[in-house]
Amino acid sequence: MSADSGIKKEAPKHADRIGFPVEGQELTVGGVPVSRLAARVGSTPFFAYDRALMTARVERLRKALPKDVHLHYAMKANPMPAVVQHMARLVDGLDVASAGEMHVALDTGIDPATISFAGPGKTVHELSQAVGAGIIINMESFNEMETIARLGAELGVHPKVAIRVNPDFELKTSGMKMGGGPKQFGVDAELVPQMLKRLGDLGLDFYGFHIFSGSQNLREDALLDAQQKTINLAIELTKHAPRAPRLVNIGGGFGIPYFPGERHLDVEAVGEGLEALMPRARNELQGAEIVIELGRYFVGEAGVYVSRVVDRKESRGTIYLITDGGLHHQLSASGNFGQVIRKNYPVAIANKMDQAEDEESNIVGCLCTPLDRLGDKVGLPRGEIGDLVVVFQSGAYGRSSSPTAFLGHPAPMEVLV
Ligand SMILES: *Cc1c(COP(=O)(O)O)cnc(C)c1O
Repeated sequence: MSADSGIKKEAPKHADRIGFPVEGQELTVGGVPVSRLAARVGSTPFFAYDRALMTARVERLRKALPKDVHLHYAMKANPMPAVVQHMARLVDGLDVASAGEMHVALDTGIDPATISFAGPGKTVHELSQAVGAGIIINMESFNEMETIARLGAELGVHPKVAIRVNPDFELKTSGMKMGGGPKQFGVDAELVPQMLKRLGDLGLDFYGFHIFSGSQNLREDALLDAQQKTINLAIELTKHAPRAPRLVNIGGGFGIPYFPGERHLDVEAVGEGLEALMPRARNELQGAEIVIELGRYFVGEAGVYVSRVVDRKESRGTIYLITDGGLHHQLSASGNFGQVIRKNYPVAIANKMDQAEDEESNIVGCLCTPLDRLGDKVGLPRGEIGDLVVVFQSGAYGRSSSPTAFLGHPAPMEVLV
């Protein structure tokens, strides 16, 4: 590459933005250069997660939010058992979405009464395991409630339950809306008083409310608006409850920046705004823990997906770096997990962090489909066979959200460093 041919000549900036230090020419995860990690893992592709970054995230959030707000980790963002074990020591509870996740959560040794189980379509088999384990079930329908009551009677226990409410508002500007209007999630707010009455008649052990309205939000004002409405709704619904709620899960939805132009959420501003809402919550929801549940915000930026360039070719003037990874491991980075217009996750060549990004390349995976793209027209140092391509923001919704069986390649390894 001649010095003046370039697309972007500045030194790579991903490292600053992402928080993984660079040593010499190499990106490090958990203090270990990526090429050394690749040698340790023994093969590419793999996911590497940085323990210290997760810890720092939780600490920062604790500092920003009111002291009495409890933090839960939503395991579906990254259910790797080692990650869940690490998170369990840092947060106040775990939110699970299947019996499989529940087993991983229970294996951490955390108090079962701090585990909650949400999700539409829980099977009788899953519900009986949850009732038996003594975790809190966030009930999503009247039918579910009747089943839980029957299982409680059979097992001779009082099932711990909360009601997942489908609010009558939405979390504006969310990447994914999960409340407001007709939804498969939760019980419509206007039906909750009736459900609370039945719940009392059935003798279920009422814990409180779970009101989750959306995900991947980078707007402080939108989050605060939803938090205010959520607290108001919980106060309103409490009037119909058989006893005072012990917890009110006000959702989460804190996003992380994935695409060019997106910025980090100002959690200090969210914390300040929430602090102003807390006196009313403390007063009118006396004794209830206020819980925020987060997945990607805790772990998303703490992980990278590493694949190796296995071929480099030029097709009619366009450079392709073909890696041994792809959408079968990192579906979200390929744009096929809910994006309408494909945009690039931040990427870099881990072993060339000191070089100028002066060539425009297309990073693709090894699958036989044009959907298998990890980076379109990105400015990178010249990529060669053997180089290690990293996709950032891969700590959440990576391996477990991807179709690993597609095309029959081996599943990727995962390491927590
Ligand atoms: C998916 C989900 C979460 C986690 O969402 P993130 O965007 O990863 O924070 C939290 N709560 C519920 C109910 C969910 O379905």
